[in-house]
Amino acid sequence: MPDEVAIAARYLGLNENEFIEKYCTEHIYDGTRTLSPAMKNGGSSCIFLNRDKECSIHEVKPFECKKVYGCGANYRHKRLREMISKNWKK
Ligand code: SF4
Repeated sequence: MPDEVAIAARYLGLNENEFIEKYCTEHIYDGTRTLSPAMKNGGSSCIFLNRDKECSIHEVKPFECKKVYGCGANYRHKRLREMISKNWKK
């Protein structure tokens, strides 16, 4: 969600622009620009997944991760993405 960017940035001791540049990737969903965690080295693992396969920002992980129990989920709900997209349109 848009307001989570500042929270996660602060958690990592970064400003929002630094956080976005270093850890986020942009998506266009339903015609709206959204941000999500980047993938490691262009692969399929989230940049916040640590060597122990745990979320390194668990306390401030994104809304969608909280709703679908994070990186272990195989299924991401279409309606949830639509709701996230609407929040980015604001
Ligand atoms: S829960 Fe998983 S997908 Fe979500 S931010 Fe953490 S490591 Fe990334």
